Amino acid sequence: MAKLPSIKDKNLEIAGKVVLVRTGMDVPLDESGLVTDDSRIQEAVPTIQFLVKGGAKVVLLTHINRPGGRVVENKRVEAVATKLSIMLKQDVKPLRDCVGSEVESAIKGMKDGEIVFLENLRFHPGEEANDVVFAQQLARLGEIYVNDAFSNSHRMHASMVGIPRYIPSYAGLLLEKEIRALTAAVEKPRRPLIVIIGGAKVSDKIGVIRNLGIKADRLIIGGAMMFTFYRSKGFDVGSSKFEADNVSIADDLLNEFQGKIILPVDVIAADKFANDARTQVVAAGEIPKGWMGLDIGPESVRRFMNELSDAGTIIWNGPLGVFEFPSFADGTAAIAKAVSGMTGRATTIVGGGDTLSAVEKVGLKGKFSHVSTGGGAMLELLEGKTLPGVAALVESLASDD
Ligand code: AMP
Repeated sequence: MAKLPSIKDKNLEIAGKVVLVRTGMDVPLDESGLVTDDSRIQEAVPTIQFLVKGGAKVVLLTHINRPGGRVVENKRVEAVATKLSIMLKQDVKPLRDCVGSEVESAIKGMKDGEIVFLENLRFHPGEEANDVVFAQQLARLGEIYVNDAFSNSHRMHASMVGIPRYIPSYAGLLLEKEIRALTAAVEKPRRPLIVIIGGAKVSDKIGVIRNLGIKADRLIIGGAMMFTFYRSKGFDVGSSKFEADNVSIADDLLNEFQGKIILPVDVIAADKFANDARTQVVAAGEIPKGWMGLDIGPESVRRFMNELSDAGTIIWNGPLGVFEFPSFADGTAAIAKAVSGMTGRATTIVGGGDTLSAVEKVGLKGKFSHVSTGGGAMLELLEGKTLPGVAALVESLASDD
């Protein structure tokens, strides 16, 4: 892929220009529309500060949650703008819409270095439909477009792929950091490259296992997904969650990557899906009838730690057990400690919404080389796909000159 145009490009003049910045400030909001976790706002700060310092008129764009193409009062950007203005120690003015004449005149009145925040893009159905007219209405508002929403870059939405067709477009600092870290880990890893894939469904991660199966030295599998692999070996998995439709794909993957895929050898079996279930540690293929595996067992943890001990690069996506229940969070917590403990000696990369909650729960979020803000976007990049939001920048007018 051609070089990603960057806001740091020396030839780019931002002073006095209206810059549309597509951010990923899709934060969780409570019933009254207040922000319950501001990490995604913090992540947006460096690019905004860079542009303000450069004298741009900064117009912020984001979607928040899934309002479904209509105005939902408790999903407005106002609370996000308030949080952001506290972080920046600068006024951030929320607007009541994201297109139209009132928005246009508010932007016309901006001074250099000022910030306005357009209303939730997903209040308009044109955003998710990638509507051409909606994209043109947005593009008309600015002179330069910046994509800093890595977490949404796998989406073919108007503000991601539509705007770059009309105005010169660049990558923001967060987007650049994500692409650089993830691409380097996959394309030029310090070896051995060890990939840990957990979570519920093989179906979501087949593409990642296929692509990284070729590139990685070892692939550690955990979470409910392990039971689909065990079914393919003909093992009894009791009432554990698995995907009957994907057993043959799991079998293909085991054959294709023989010797690379490492499965847990034991599990914590439970008599029901609950934190207060009765438990026992059993060999992975010997789960009693009616019982289900909800976490990897202690011997698996020991072996996985051993596998990780010589890593040059570790990429981890997906919890290894039902970490939401404290009784079944130990495997994921132990792996979080082991991976973070390798930071420095190895490049350690974690990502995915559930994986991040799991590492936050054990207080280790700051202890990795790179924590990706993308779930779906990270997986698509690891699958070897080009993200549409990134391709749109490369193809934009900016790369023509
Ligand atoms: P994913 O969205 O595919 O990354 O899956 C994350 C979910 O997988 C989390 O909510 C975990 O609780 C769940 N999970 C992990 N291990 C298991 C398991 N052994 N049985 C059932 N669910 C699991």
